Amino acid sequence: MFKLIKTIKQPQQFKYINRMSTNTSVKGKEVLKKLGELIPLNLAEKWDNVGLLIEPSNTDSMNIESIFLTNDLTEPVLQEAINEGANFIFSYHPPLFNQFKTVNQKSIPQRIAIKSIENKIPVYSPHSALDSCDDGLNDWIANGLIKLNSGRGRSKPITPYQEPLKSTQKISIYLHSNQPLTPEILKQLELNSNFQFFTTDKIELSCNQQQLLILTNLIQSFSNEIKGWDIVNQEKVSSLNNGSGKLVTLDEGIDIDVVIKGVKELFNIEYVRLGKPLSGESKKIKTISLCAGSGGSVIFGEKADLYLTGELTHHAILDACAKGSYVIVCDHTNSERGYLSQILKPNLEKLFDNRVKVLISKLDTDPLKVI
Ligand SMILES: [Zn+2]
Repeated sequence: MFKLIKTIKQPQQFKYINRMSTNTSVKGKEVLKKLGELIPLNLAEKWDNVGLLIEPSNTDSMNIESIFLTNDLTEPVLQEAINEGANFIFSYHPPLFNQFKTVNQKSIPQRIAIKSIENKIPVYSPHSALDSCDDGLNDWIANGLIKLNSGRGRSKPITPYQEPLKSTQKISIYLHSNQPLTPEILKQLELNSNFQFFTTDKIELSCNQQQLLILTNLIQSFSNEIKGWDIVNQEKVSSLNNGSGKLVTLDEGIDIDVVIKGVKELFNIEYVRLGKPLSGESKKIKTISLCAGSGGSVIFGEKADLYLTGELTHHAILDACAKGSYVIVCDHTNSERGYLSQILKPNLEKLFDNRVKVLISKLDTDPLKVI
């Protein structure tokens, strides 16, 4: 749409219509809501620091015209975002992690926080939620590897996210001793639940979402006759798509050279570091356990022909090679950054119907270089 306005001479009224159809801002509240829907923050690891980390006054009512994407929010990158006129920063890694008791110029995270607020730029970080979500960072890598076998293969999370199963909720009702519920109430409870377990001082019920509403109304109607009640322990089920890391299983084994070339292209890098099986045998790659960034705590949860991640310790590499696997490491952020331009930028443009510009940092880069 912008190109049309720039390059094609049109009568004045058509120019006006084009500008109207590309409304160029979204309220901060909508940006936050839609980001939360695209990348559910409940998928983040417990130790992580995710979401809206820096919130200037009135962020909800701000007119967000451009979202600036970066893997790491360093001070030069923040200055770049300011120079570009960005008014919302999406930093994959959280720029703030440790707590601080003062807000001054003595540390980099604090200076970043102060400067962002002074320039009225909210900073949002999804980090491990983006690793684990459907169509997230690890899916991007897994799909890139499956393409190397002409799409013949599949992937699953190495550590699946445990999703609460909405259809089975459990209610516990605590009874007064020597004061049983009336047969009419017990019958109503039985009729509106799928499973009941009775003891002298407790009733446990299992129910679906619809029954839950009926049961909670019912329990409230006789709440004076019981000690208390709660909804406990939603049952959980392993997610098929969401979770840490990915195990790729190709339908046919492929040469390690094909994988190396594919990884370099996907990550847009010239070099990777390769560990080979210590036995010296060369074998086809059919299973790949992968995790973007620093995946040592995740990828060895599955046995695989190849382990792929950004960084690993010496001993983890040695152990994997001794057990007959290949290892590829390519420096931490090299395994992450390409996602921003290849997947996230188009996804955000679609998410906001092209009403916001999505910019990508040109200065953001891995701090390590092969020289
Ligand atoms: Zn990382």
